[in-house]
Amino acid sequence: MRTRTRRPARRLSTAKADTAPIDLRSDTVTRPTPEMRKAMAAAEVGDDVLDHDPTMAELEERVAGLLGASAALWTPSGSMGNLIALMSHLQRGDSFLAPAGSHVLDAELGTAAWLAGGMPRPLEHDAGPGRVSAAAVRRAAGGDAPYYALTTRLLCLENTHNAAGGTVTRPEDHARVASAAKAAGLAVHLDGARLWHAAVKLGVPLGALTVGSDTVQVCLSKGLGAPVGSVVAGSVEFVQQARRLRKMLGGGVRQGGVLAAAGLVALDRVDRLAEDHARAATLAAGLRERGWRAPEPETNIVLVAVADLPGTLARFRESGVLASAMSGKVRLMTHADVGDAEITAALDRIGPLEQGQAGRPAVRGAS
Ligand SMILES: *Cc1c(COP(=O)(O)O)cnc(C)c1O
Repeated sequence: MRTRTRRPARRLSTAKADTAPIDLRSDTVTRPTPEMRKAMAAAEVGDDVLDHDPTMAELEERVAGLLGASAALWTPSGSMGNLIALMSHLQRGDSFLAPAGSHVLDAELGTAAWLAGGMPRPLEHDAGPGRVSAAAVRRAAGGDAPYYALTTRLLCLENTHNAAGGTVTRPEDHARVASAAKAAGLAVHLDGARLWHAAVKLGVPLGALTVGSDTVQVCLSKGLGAPVGSVVAGSVEFVQQARRLRKMLGGGVRQGGVLAAAGLVALDRVDRLAEDHARAATLAAGLRERGWRAPEPETNIVLVAVADLPGTLARFRESGVLASAMSGKVRLMTHADVGDAEITAALDRIGPLEQGQAGRPAVRGAS
């Protein structure tokens, strides 16, 4: 009897270890690497709010160089980087254009409107998922308008486009759309939270993807794995103003070099993103083999169309796979903290799409 009671207990603990959840909700869930923690501990610092932090300055200079910009400013988040850029471009009475589903439209609490003052005008993805055409920008920018009409002031692009499934805009397409915006008198901001992913996917330098942009925001805490931080870049005059705006938003950090040090290590991890892309492709292919509707991803974001989104997320969670909801679909993201073994395990846990479960169009009403 004793051995019998002990055995299931042992099995239970083994099962527990096997089912530590595989976290594919976002590429932001990564933990700083030992190398990052070491760099943070050893970081040379100053007071960045008073005047200067050497590690912060080094990071800003390096990212500006990568983006082909004159100057750059560290911000605590990508949302703040975007907001600072939009505040510098917009004022009340203005409107701005952005591809539908953009982070600035849907995931920043409307700050583009109520803090930056710009009325948002979403553009259809008429040039492929996450992408808009130059013709659409020309049309939307309009021309002469009566005094009571909004002034369209800015085009805000996103590469890769998160909600469209990590879709990539090619350098020539970005340049064409940006120059159409310029010709129509608009400024261009590029939300490049995952611009690294686009550059790696296309095999081009980061600077090739920013041509024609006045301001660019990139995240260090997405695929690159820094614990915190983004950088917003542009002209020297823009960065001077951006520093004032960041202070206004409460985003000045004093011994920020501790955080910037992790960002510098993150910059050395750009090439590694190719692994995330490959694993996302493996994951999507495995899901398709199991009957799920998971089209081939362009980068590290796999979107799965399902009939019952909350039900499917709950089912995944129960089987030990954490996913999130995006654009009415299940979103699974590969990142630095999941390897091939986790992808195989995730597919095993998710298993085949079962009849009567998510993925089949609902036939009996909304329940
Ligand atoms: C994550 C993200 C941001 C910024 O996010 P924070 O969480 O504020 O750092 C901006 N744009 C896109 C497209 C993103 O995916």
